Amino acid sequence: MIISSRKTRQELLGALEGVERVFLVGCGACATACKSGGEEEVFQLQEWLEKEQRDVTGSVVIDEACHIMRAGRDLRHHKQAVEDADALLVLSCGAGIQSISSSTDKRVIGGLDSLFLGNIRRFGHYEEKCSLCGDCILNETAGICPVTNCAKGLLNGPCGGMEEGKCEVDRDIDCAWHLIYERLKKQKRPGVFARTVAPKNWDRRRKPGRYNIKK
Ligand code: SF4
Ligand code: SF4
Repeated sequence: MIISSRKTRQELLGALEGVERVFLVGCGACATACKSGGEEEVFQLQEWLEKEQRDVTGSVVIDEACHIMRAGRDLRHHKQAVEDADALLVLSCGAGIQSISSSTDKRVIGGLDSLFLGNIRRFGHYEEKCSLCGDCILNETAGICPVTNCAKGLLNGPCGGMEEGKCEVDRDIDCAWHLIYERLKKQKRPGVFARTVAPKNWDRRRKPGRYNIKK
């Protein structure tokens, strides 16, 4: 899930300078789960905008704002309200904001900051486990990602700063490489420690990413 957080009201006011009429867009997927851009947050935003003397022409919460075709279709269903607005204010991750901006020539304002791809510990508690490097080595690291969990993203750890299993960057957190070592030991296999890992092939993470499922 993409973890996102709301921009401050101050940031929004800056972005809304010169905008009098706004159409609001939320996302029914990740932003709803993060409580940053679902029905409730769109409603709260509408109330606040009205207090700030802005006219809200309408709103929609798209099932998945990152779905480009669906975003375009849902905006067409609100054609007049979108036309009446000076700008669309979007409560979704950056992918969703760009689905909207590719579906309209109107000014599009992002209301959220996208933070990371998150695992859910429990409601409201999210943890980054994967940085989407495109060249996964989890099979050799006992299912613990050093790219994300090591403070330095080392591929051949641990570094010299590890002390009693704790990370030198933050002594309150476990050294990812210590965790990898301990788990591999339990599994009775050398895993990644059997070799020196070559520098990561960042070419596999070339931007912008494209992926088509082959038939
Ligand atoms: S190595 Fe880590 S960052 Fe790369 S794909 Fe695997 S889990 Fe994600
Ligand atoms: S102590 Fe461990 S987690 Fe911290 S930077 Fe060094 S190798 Fe990475």
